[in-house]
Amino acid sequence: MKIKNIYSPNFNQRKRSYKSIKLLIIHYTGMQSERESLIRLCNPKSKVSSHFLINQKGKVYRLIQDNQIAWHAGISSWAKYKNLNRNSIGIELVNKGHSFGYTNFKKKQISSLIKICKKLVKKYKIKKKNVVGHSDVAPLRKIDPGEKFPWKDLASKKIGIWHNCKTELLTKYRRVKVSQKFKPKFINNLKKIGYNFNSNKKADLKKTIKAFQRHYRKELINGVIDKECLIIAKSILKKLKNS
Ligand SMILES: [Zn+2]
Repeated sequence: MKIKNIYSPNFNQRKRSYKSIKLLIIHYTGMQSERESLIRLCNPKSKVSSHFLINQKGKVYRLIQDNQIAWHAGISSWAKYKNLNRNSIGIELVNKGHSFGYTNFKKKQISSLIKICKKLVKKYKIKKKNVVGHSDVAPLRKIDPGEKFPWKDLASKKIGIWHNCKTELLTKYRRVKVSQKFKPKFINNLKKIGYNFNSNKKADLKKTIKAFQRHYRKELINGVIDKECLIIAKSILKKLKNS
């Protein structure tokens, strides 16, 4: 696969060891155009960047080398990792995003992404549970790459994780209320998956549940724990244990 190198200055002075790379974080650009996104990601004033950018035709740009710390995740955490720029590789996908007209990701774009992810996962031995979206690691601030991102397709190529539940079962349990006593268990399962949640605020919990839904239950993102959510979380944990 051809990769075009374009220089972005938005990375830490100090290099990192390859061993410190533990996560892949997927983003969308959320801007009007590819051109605008490239300019922003390479502008020293913007102070944002990512290691890779993939356009809608599947063309791949490398902006930052893997052993440099790019500025893509911001305040973030996942499982035991915090401030994830240090430990992650950031991949931006060109998409206007929720503010400017969110569209499906293009086939060629996803197929390039899968190729890159496969290489990176192999090279840095990245665990399935550590292939995540920006919204997963910063649920209170971010919603990218959003509910149109095809996590299931990636998982079918062994990138990231997906559940085992049958569609009929899921639709049956969608919106089915769960009693109060199951909620702490579900929140605990979210933590085991990797979501970090240390707040007592109801609004923060709701956002974290939404991040989970955006990733694993895109049909309904309402921040409410229903029976479908419980089943999905359980199934994911089971898969993680066996992976
Ligand atoms: Zn992002």
